[in-house]
Amino acid sequence: MHDLTRCVQHPTVSHDGFSSLAVPTFRASTIVYSDPQAFAHRAERGLDGYTYGLHGTPTTRTLEAQLTALHGGERTVLVPSGQAAVAVTMIAVLKPGDKVLIPDHVYPPVRDLCANYLASRGISYAVYDPLIGAGIADLIDASTKLIWLESPGSGTMEVQDVAAIAAVAKARGVLTGCDNTWASPLLFKPLAHGVDFAIEALTKYVGGHSDLLLGSITVKDLALHSALKQVLGVLGIGVSPDEAALALRGIETMGVRIAHSGRVARDFAERLQSVPAVARVLHPALPSCPGHEIFARDYTGASAVFSIVIRPEFTARIPVALGHLRLFAIGASWGGTHSLIAPMDVAASRTVRPWNPVEGLVRLSIGLEEPNELWEDLTRFLAALGSG
Ligand SMILES: *Cc1c(COP(=O)(O)O)cnc(C)c1O
Repeated sequence: MHDLTRCVQHPTVSHDGFSSLAVPTFRASTIVYSDPQAFAHRAERGLDGYTYGLHGTPTTRTLEAQLTALHGGERTVLVPSGQAAVAVTMIAVLKPGDKVLIPDHVYPPVRDLCANYLASRGISYAVYDPLIGAGIADLIDASTKLIWLESPGSGTMEVQDVAAIAAVAKARGVLTGCDNTWASPLLFKPLAHGVDFAIEALTKYVGGHSDLLLGSITVKDLALHSALKQVLGVLGIGVSPDEAALALRGIETMGVRIAHSGRVARDFAERLQSVPAVARVLHPALPSCPGHEIFARDYTGASAVFSIVIRPEFTARIPVALGHLRLFAIGASWGGTHSLIAPMDVAASRTVRPWNPVEGLVRLSIGLEEPNELWEDLTRFLAALGSG
């Protein structure tokens, strides 16, 4: 064999006796077939068969199967980001003439998707109060095809009555999808509460180290799975096995990371309630959080993201005070090992439950730093706000 040929022919090595605790990273665009018949019949390989790298590798299938098991679903599809998980679900379900209902606290790019992409393609949307519960029935009309939920909501943390909304939707033949990124399947399982699509930004707690982007959609109904797969196929959306491998590594420690940082976050949230500059602490485990009683009923615990509302007389100093932090990094996309803090402009993205624009909202994501050092850092921020 010529050296040039040898360069593209990887030697076959034995896999016998090799067994690793880690999931191997299988990279592939082409998948090769043993003979022309196998190639000709590749479309008949079924949901678990391999046909082309875009449609799955053993690495991506392993992550899918793990998420399916955690959610108590039947099938999961992976997509390149959490936002893609929302977009692919909506595109798979909605046709011109249909309407989608979204909660007022929804992750802002989802509102953009509805207002600036779907609307111009004949798909309308309406925004509802996230605390509406069974009252959602009044907003359903003949064109309503999908109700979107996000619980708790991005930034403002309202906890939704997922079961009540899903029950009303089911009775009216409307599909439901729930963004479960805050809770992860460890703390809440939307499918068990009647939701059709459970979506996760794996970018957050599953990845857990702020170094990957990935999303997932888990369903019980195989017809919905095939509608999702069809969209992924025609749009040419697949995920890298390298990202999936990082997520498979991250998910191994997700339980201890969330348990630890969730405990620290809860402790900080309680302490922050008595800080003079803080008007309210929005942490689902505290009675001051809208929907707290739903949280207490349905969730098995809290993750480590929560918000504080800063009193109007202190908001002007938020940017300066953020500059005093040494451990908390300023940035979005939470759920990693580093603690993060982000001021959020809520009023601009509210249309149903107005937000007092003179109040400031600061979202915290607690990481794995030593808790006392982290609290000390937070006190530097609070002192700089003018309230010790
Ligand atoms: C971050 C986030 C997303 C989007 O995830 P990406 O992977 O960053 O696209 C969607 N929903 C919620 C609630 C999020 O926090």
